[in-house]
Amino acid sequence: MPTETFEFQVEARQLLQLMIHSIYSNKDVFLRELVSNASDALDKLRLEALRDDSLDVDVSDLHIDIEADKSARTLTVRDNGIGMSREEVVKLIGTIANSGTAAFLRELKEAQDAKDAASTEGLIGQFGVGFYASFMVADQVTLLTRRAGESQGTRWTSDGEGTYSIEDVADAPQGTSVTLRLKPEDSEDRLHDYTAPWKIREIVKRYSDFITWPIRMAAEPAATASDDAADPDDAEDADDAAKATEPETLNSMKALWARSRDEVSDDEYHELYKHISHDWNDPLETIRLHAEGTFEYQALLFIPAHAPQDMFMQDFKRGIQLYVKRVFIMDHCEALLPPYLRFVKGVVDAQDLSLNVSREILQQDRQIQLMHRRLAKKVLSTIKDMRTSHADRYATFWREFGPVLKEGLLSDFENRDAILGVSSFASTHDAQELTTLREYVERMKEGQQDIYFMTGESRQAIENSPHMEAFRAKGIEVLLLTDPVDEVWVQAVPEFEGKQLRSIAKGEVDLDTEEEKAEADSAREKRQEEFADLLTWMKERLGEHVKEVRLSSRLTVSPACVVSDTHDVTPALQNMYRAMGQ
Ligand code: ADP
Ligand code: MG
Repeated sequence: MPTETFEFQVEARQLLQLMIHSIYSNKDVFLRELVSNASDALDKLRLEALRDDSLDVDVSDLHIDIEADKSARTLTVRDNGIGMSREEVVKLIGTIANSGTAAFLRELKEAQDAKDAASTEGLIGQFGVGFYASFMVADQVTLLTRRAGESQGTRWTSDGEGTYSIEDVADAPQGTSVTLRLKPEDSEDRLHDYTAPWKIREIVKRYSDFITWPIRMAAEPAATASDDAADPDDAEDADDAAKATEPETLNSMKALWARSRDEVSDDEYHELYKHISHDWNDPLETIRLHAEGTFEYQALLFIPAHAPQDMFMQDFKRGIQLYVKRVFIMDHCEALLPPYLRFVKGVVDAQDLSLNVSREILQQDRQIQLMHRRLAKKVLSTIKDMRTSHADRYATFWREFGPVLKEGLLSDFENRDAILGVSSFASTHDAQELTTLREYVERMKEGQQDIYFMTGESRQAIENSPHMEAFRAKGIEVLLLTDPVDEVWVQAVPEFEGKQLRSIAKGEVDLDTEEEKAEADSAREKRQEEFADLLTWMKERLGEHVKEVRLSSRLTVSPACVVSDTHDVTPALQNMYRAMGQ
């Protein structure tokens, strides 16, 4: 096939423009992204070789090579991993699959238009542009790749300005190499000289030290080892020359989860997080767990600082990475954590699983189920600690992930109390601050038996509701539940620490003392008789739309309100079902 030219997808083009004009101040991360991709490709190849006997590849020497050419001003990152077919190159490199991209780009444009540099960079950080980060430092990028098991290779080239070209290559080595032609404007800038070995060493050490594959750098030819002219003695010394061509391994390859806490810096944990999550921001929380005994495993989990755009979408990829004895087995392993913790990222490394485990086996495996339980509890207890010791971090957590976590109230019976314990809610007690159920219970009035709540679309809508009147008049606190999921879990959770959860919009809500009640009852009976004709007439007029029309004791201002039976579906839930097409 001759060389073909393609246009980048619109979103991809917009992102590339951002990269070319480099709005991100830390350009060094381009190398982290390329190494991260190479590492993924090696993981995939080893796994495929393990699964597929017919795949004829050598997996005995998998590695990543970095090669700089000072005079040509190019930098190449090469791996002998899985590689890509021609179709894959077009699909994976020319388009952006992430479903949140469009929304992200809109937000980004607004920040840029407002000339808000800080939030612009923050947004870019949240997104993580991967391969395209190359265009921060290069004015031309060439990718040469051949997929394991295929004979035809592919060369992809682009200057990032709208189009890329693709051609077939007959003799490409298996795997992928990415060659950057570095921008001339950085050549005089020592800090951005990406051909300098010290610089490459430093970036790899900082961002990619934990990568489990060797990241190697070809030794400098003797002549360029120092800035001086070549030393003729060196060239003549055969031993030295041999030594000089031996590549240098730049990373320690130590699995962070297997090392003790005090051996690993926070920064190192954060870089691992960025590698697995493809997030460019630091995580909110790092969780370590070492299980010893008959079933030994280590886990390193992270709570991100931002909810991903697509967390509520059907095709959201959840789950953590599974390793067996340091060997990467699979990404997005769903069996290890419940769906309501789908925002958690990380690694679990088990000692005693077969390297051949499949997703189906995992779902059934008893040891995996035990791990699942233990990890869920560990995440919940971490959130609890965060709430007591780091209030502002917890506030961030709850803002980003509260609605997802509450799904667990419906599905995870065993941890229901733990989830309720770390949940917080808006309340009439305070216009801004959220409250926990425990705090609510502590504030309950003398004689108050139940925890009152009302669900609705917004705080304001609830506060304007006639149902609130009696509670306001009596100064009784009401929780204001406005997340769509609130409609559902309140149906499933009857109580918290022995106190019933009661909707103020349902059935008879009783706020009076026995005395007041007796008084009110007789008064109402009398008035009920007085108004009997009117009530019957109203019931007839309203016909099928209501079950009953009765005098109310709870309204102080509004003339009438609609109440549902205790077990009826609330109006908001009706709307939700309608929206879901049920
Ligand atoms: P991400 O890594 O977040 O998926 P990238 O932009 O970094 O996004 O890469 C896009 C995709 O291109 C990768 O998911 C992978 O499928 C493919 N890819 C990139 N680099 C390589 C490589 N060195 N070998 C094989 N595939 C690669
Ligand atoms: Mg990547």
